Amino acid sequence: MYLKKLEIHGFKSFAKKTALEFEPGITSVVGPNGSGKSNIADSLRWVFGEQSLKLLRGKKTEDVIFAGSDQKARLGGAEVLVSFDNSNRVIPIDYSEVVIGRRLFRNGNSEYLINDNQVRLLDIQDLLLKSGVGNTSYCVIGQGMIDNFILGGPQAIKELIEDASGVKPYYVKRERALRKFDHTESNLTQAGALIAEIEPRLKSLRRQTRKLEQREDLERELREMQTAYFSEIFRGLQKQTSELDAKIGIFDKQIDELEKEILALSEDIEKEEKTRENKSSAVVLQSELEELRKTKQRLLEEQSFLRGKLKVEELKNLPEPKINWVLVRDKFRAVLEKFRAFAKNFSKYRDEPESWRSESDEMENELKQLLEEIDTRSSEHKERQGFEQGKKRLEELNNEVDKISTLIAAAEEKVRSFIEQAEQKKNQLFVKERLFRNKQETLLKIRDQKNSLSIEQAKLQTRKENYENEALAALGRDYTQVVSSYALAVPEGVLDRIARLKKQLEIIGGVDDLVLQEYKETESRFQYLTSQTEDLEKAIADLRTVIAELDESIKKEFDNAYNKISEKFSEYFRVLFGGGKATMTILREKPELSEEIETEESAPSLNPSPRAGEGRVRGAEIVGIEIRATPPGKKLAGIAALSGGERALTSIALLSAILATFPSPFVVLDEVDAALDEANSIRFAKILGTLASKTQFITITHNRETMRQSHTLYGVTMGEDGVSRVLSLKLEQAAAYSSKN
Ligand code: ATP
Repeated sequence: MYLKKLEIHGFKSFAKKTALEFEPGITSVVGPNGSGKSNIADSLRWVFGEQSLKLLRGKKTEDVIFAGSDQKARLGGAEVLVSFDNSNRVIPIDYSEVVIGRRLFRNGNSEYLINDNQVRLLDIQDLLLKSGVGNTSYCVIGQGMIDNFILGGPQAIKELIEDASGVKPYYVKRERALRKFDHTESNLTQAGALIAEIEPRLKSLRRQTRKLEQREDLERELREMQTAYFSEIFRGLQKQTSELDAKIGIFDKQIDELEKEILALSEDIEKEEKTRENKSSAVVLQSELEELRKTKQRLLEEQSFLRGKLKVEELKNLPEPKINWVLVRDKFRAVLEKFRAFAKNFSKYRDEPESWRSESDEMENELKQLLEEIDTRSSEHKERQGFEQGKKRLEELNNEVDKISTLIAAAEEKVRSFIEQAEQKKNQLFVKERLFRNKQETLLKIRDQKNSLSIEQAKLQTRKENYENEALAALGRDYTQVVSSYALAVPEGVLDRIARLKKQLEIIGGVDDLVLQEYKETESRFQYLTSQTEDLEKAIADLRTVIAELDESIKKEFDNAYNKISEKFSEYFRVLFGGGKATMTILREKPELSEEIETEESAPSLNPSPRAGEGRVRGAEIVGIEIRATPPGKKLAGIAALSGGERALTSIALLSAILATFPSPFVVLDEVDAALDEANSIRFAKILGTLASKTQFITITHNRETMRQSHTLYGVTMGEDGVSRVLSLKLEQAAAYSSKN
């Protein structure tokens, strides 16, 4: 990594955009006085973030902007860009070229850039610190400032060595840790003060709350006892309620059944009564029977009449009336024959009237007799016919009587069975009615029993409600849950214990809830502060460790750097002075005796600026490095006794020692060799030549020897327009250039 290019535009006398390219090794910038060479060194200082107006040789920030000249107007802004070759990635950015830039405008706006990206100053400082560039106080050594190395005194020399040894980052870290330590310690102190403030109050509150705790214990026990008590009570009540419910349930069932039975019975009875009321059927039966009996009577009467009648006829014992129709016919024929003969001989009778009369009388008698016989026989027949009819009728009557008797018997049977049934039904109804009454009585009895159970139930409910109210008051709204989840055995004498606990609570009396509230708050605050204190103490212990470790690293690195640099310093001194002697001595602060550091005398800590709070990590601090220089042939004396040139040489010896031990990527030297005589200039140039293998040098010089060691030469001129210009030169030109002044 090396400085590759510097572009200046509007910075101080460089009104025009000017670019200087550099190679590793030595680049010399030459030119007449006032041409603007130092402005180049300033521009580098500035682009690396320098804030010191004094080091920038200005009074105001905008003094770095081209202020204008007779011929050229002032500019509105200044810009400096510096490019680094970063092929070896020393700058921790993954670019082979890194460009750092800074701009300032007259309106006060300023910009910092890394590879064209706007960044903060801090980013640039951080990047340079990480790359070992620009972080050292000797990166740009201004004109006349080389002496300051040693004139700054032991403290400045010490800081130089610290810069070189790279312990600065440790210091930054240490500084941060210390700041944190201070902050933490102040927090701890504050926490401690707060604890001290609240502790007495906390004690008093604790006393009061102990009473409250006691009360809470008693209350807890009381609550437990009450829970047990009520659990037993409610269990009992529950049991009684269930039993009652069960009993009532049974009664309800019985009542229900009875009511159904009674209803069925009443319907049954009603129905039967209706059928009983329906007497017409009985009456009909009876009247039918009566009718039948009357009919029978009539028939019997007729029968007996007929029997009587038939008996008379029987007594007559009438023979079977028979007419001898053949005889009748024969008689008729004889008569008829007589009649015919009579009729035929009718004329004869006319002469014989007496014969006619006798004969006609005879015939008439004969006919009369015949007719009489027929009449007799006819009446006999008629009589007989009537008897037969009477017999038949009697038979019919007998049949009818039999029939009717059967009917009567049936009707009587019907009536009898009807009566029997009616009787039976009456009996049944009677039984049912009795049953009905019995059931009704039973129902009433059961209802009574149920009612008394209901009353008992109501009483039980009232008792339960009373207990519930008591439980609510004692155990709160969720008492049911509390009580039901109580699974332990109820202690003996629970009521006595409850009474005793109540009494005890009464004796303790009430404790203000606000006290508890305050106690809780104070306690939690106390706890918080205590835990915070613990955390802070731990943090302090950790920070102590960190600081101690950093101290250890600083000491190690510093000791290493010091030993090497002091040795090299002596060597370079002798080379530059051609003899003599120079030494470095560590100056230590008188150690503050404390338990921890008594044993550290031989390995003191390097804390440069002891602070409050780090007492325990302090040791015999190195306050500076004293240089004693004795040029050849002179007495050992302090640097104050050295001449200007000797001072410059001693300073150069120190710078060379530092660079030989810890080579910087580049160093800008603005006329550090100004005070050297030719012989010393030669020695210096030689040393520079050797150091240039590891450090890139940009030297502003009038020294020919230095120019000779350079790989590149730039000449700076300033025209009448007050604007600096740069041009590349050959050695001869450069010598001529620089000798112009
Ligand atoms: P020497 O060899 O005498 O040390 P030098 O070459 O180092 O001189 P510088 O100090 O770099 O000279 O430049 C000084 C010049 O720069 C002065 O002429 C001064 O007027 C000019 N200068 C400084 N600041 C500004 C500015 N803001 N605007 C214009 N010119 C400026």
